[in-house]
Amino acid sequence: MNVYDSERISDVLGGLKSEPTALPADAELIILNTCHIREKAAEKVYSELGRLRQIKAERAERGETTMIAVAGCVAQAEGQEIIARAPVVDLVVGPQSYHRLPELMAKVRDEGRSVVDTDFPEEDKFGHLPERPVISRRASAFVTVQEGCDKFCTFCVVPYTRGVEYSRPAADLVAETERLVDQGVREITLLGQNVNAYHGEGPDGSSWTLAKLLRRLARIDGLARLRYTTSHPRDMDDDLIDAHGELDQLMPYLHLPFQAGSNRILAAMNRKHDTDDYRRIVERLRAARPDIALSTDIIVGFPGEADREFQETMTLVRDVGFAEAYSFKYSPRPGTPASTMTDQVPEDVKNTRLQELQALLRAQKSEFNMSCIGSRMPVLFEKPGRLADQMVGRSPYLQPVHAYVSDDAVGEVLQVEIKAAGPNSLEGKIVSGSDLNSRAAAE
Ligand code: SAH
Ligand code: SF4
Repeated sequence: MNVYDSERISDVLGGLKSEPTALPADAELIILNTCHIREKAAEKVYSELGRLRQIKAERAERGETTMIAVAGCVAQAEGQEIIARAPVVDLVVGPQSYHRLPELMAKVRDEGRSVVDTDFPEEDKFGHLPERPVISRRASAFVTVQEGCDKFCTFCVVPYTRGVEYSRPAADLVAETERLVDQGVREITLLGQNVNAYHGEGPDGSSWTLAKLLRRLARIDGLARLRYTTSHPRDMDDDLIDAHGELDQLMPYLHLPFQAGSNRILAAMNRKHDTDDYRRIVERLRAARPDIALSTDIIVGFPGEADREFQETMTLVRDVGFAEAYSFKYSPRPGTPASTMTDQVPEDVKNTRLQELQALLRAQKSEFNMSCIGSRMPVLFEKPGRLADQMVGRSPYLQPVHAYVSDDAVGEVLQVEIKAAGPNSLEGKIVSGSDLNSRAAAE
């Protein structure tokens, strides 16, 4: 979502006739778009600001001014504190206010002081952002459909930094997608902190579900692929699962975090699902779309997690089998209920568990990649690859696939025979030169 937000921030600045620079030392304005989800991400902001202070001082010696802004969730969570800790910062702007950047920047300039805007404004940010400009030769794009979260998992800052759940109206999303497809985009990934909780207003005034939105978007001519992320197991309803069986454009890959394999820990996390719910969803998804590959998020060392409870996480991973996974040590976040729980797990125990889990996840990913050797799959080519004359694209299962093909292939879906697999990507040979509809090719 921060990639999408950064792009939209650039759109706002484009309206001010700004252009990107290759080096921070050449920039009159530097914005750090930040993440607060774990402590490490938040701390990176301050080390980066240390570097920027140097650049600002060097530019000042040359008589050049530099405005430094912090945007995103660290801005939202820490507000004024950022300026107290890093006085080099001129502007702090939360994720709901970046459409106001031009006026905030003018305020910094006119009043000669730092400015903080971490409101959740009444007006709709999306309604005040400029139309997305054409980015040439782009195969894949994100569209935010939903923001915020009302679920309040006890470890998570998102409900505090991104605010309550909000879904964009379906008509706006159809229009934004159609414009992107007209520009040559072939794949859209719908984004939301809780994307499958989507309940935007439909053109008929009724509330649309994510399944309904996907069915509508799948009718857009020229749109080859649809994906959505991140989903919560609680909102994985039957209609959405059925859509995976029905829609050719919906890729057979789903990111579905389960966080922990112990029901006691899931309850303490306030996850609102247990391991049986998760197993049932996976079973139903695989019945609807047998080749679906799964990805997940897992936290180790949540307060009070015993060794045997961690082993339940290992069991769930072994039973389900994941093509991809993101695993983290529990990181206490200020203001969240879990951060004040008294039974925090020692750092060395978290480290050992994370290593054990990641070894299993690496093995599963590698096994999944190896199982693709010899098969043919449609690949959407996106950009130049590592080697000369190579391009890289994505398989239906989101694996990067390298193949020798001319760079005209950007935005084309071509059939590729997989010849080799590494830990993180595949290599293959083009077997058809014409653009394919993904499902027809997979069959
Ligand atoms: N809405 C999604 C997750 C969004 S946050 C969901 O409910 O699944 C992305 C991931 O960061 C989470 O899935 C979780 O695994 C991880 N995460 C969030 N807070 C964390 C914390 N305090 N410590 C460690 N990992 C955390
Ligand atoms: Fe955070 Fe996801 Fe839980 Fe919401 S559902 S509080 S975003 S982990």
